[in-house]
Amino acid sequence: IQTSTTTLANGVEMPWVGLGVYKAEAGNEVERAVKSALEAGYRSIDTASFYENEHSVGKAIAESSIPADDIFLTTKVWNNEHGFNETLEAFERSREKLGVDVIDLYLIHWPVPGKYKETWGALEKLYEEGKVRAIGVSNFTDQHLEELMKIAKVKPMVNQVEFHPRLFQKDLLEYCQTHDIQLEAWRPLGQGDLLDADPVQRIAEKHGKKPAQVLIRWSMENNVVTIPKSVTPERIKSNAEVFDFELDAEDLQAINGLNEDRRYGFHPDDFP
Ligand code: NAD
Repeated sequence: IQTSTTTLANGVEMPWVGLGVYKAEAGNEVERAVKSALEAGYRSIDTASFYENEHSVGKAIAESSIPADDIFLTTKVWNNEHGFNETLEAFERSREKLGVDVIDLYLIHWPVPGKYKETWGALEKLYEEGKVRAIGVSNFTDQHLEELMKIAKVKPMVNQVEFHPRLFQKDLLEYCQTHDIQLEAWRPLGQGDLLDADPVQRIAEKHGKKPAQVLIRWSMENNVVTIPKSVTPERIKSNAEVFDFELDAEDLQAINGLNEDRRYGFHPDDFP
């Protein structure tokens, strides 16, 4: 169901929809979620050292019948792991926990002031050595990206940010498109809060789809990669069934009307 991909600036294929596992508990909960996702056809998992479940994600991948090479695996360097050597060490810890040779996408989780440029140097080294297939950032504003680009030898291929109809970051989306940086949406469902917003429900009924599917489709139609989280097998499966319908201009206009620059998470300048 879920094979459609976008091509990153360096030619690497990244699935449009992946499973997010923030707050999916290490052990049974996240293992079951990852296995259900892989069975449902997902080929992309988004974790982070901060989530403290990389080991379980790795275990679920190893125990599944899907070759690890077919799975696009993202992890991230956390705020207290910044710095050149520190990041190289953090990467090795993540890689060991995940139990894979190569990570598909390694991201700087938050733009820690005064530190992220040095950290970027470590990501470039990992990329040049072939230990990661692509490198990118998360929670970067266009100003952070401008700063980073001044020193970067390799441009970030992805920027993963909070993005949903209530926080339709149009300027950032345009900036990223201009620079061939793939935007990726975190919290695409507003952690569930957006599911009963009026136009979302109405549009879901109109297409015979679920509200979550409408929100995920909305991201994709804006050329934004999406990583909805669920640990419920039926919801995991249903969240990826978004390739059999399209939102029309009227739907898009109604959903875009929800924008109020509202964040459910931190602003990039107030990272945790
Ligand atoms: P989300 O918007 O994906 O919402 C997840 C919640 O929505 C679930 O816990 C569940 O309660 C509900 N839900 C999911 N599918 C549903 C369905 N079909 N029907 C009804 N309810 C449903 O929120 P999120 O987990 O915060 O974001 C998704 C992923 O983004 C995370 O798991 C993580 O991988 C990533 N993320 C990254 C950052 C970052 O700083 N880079 C921050 C937050 C999240």
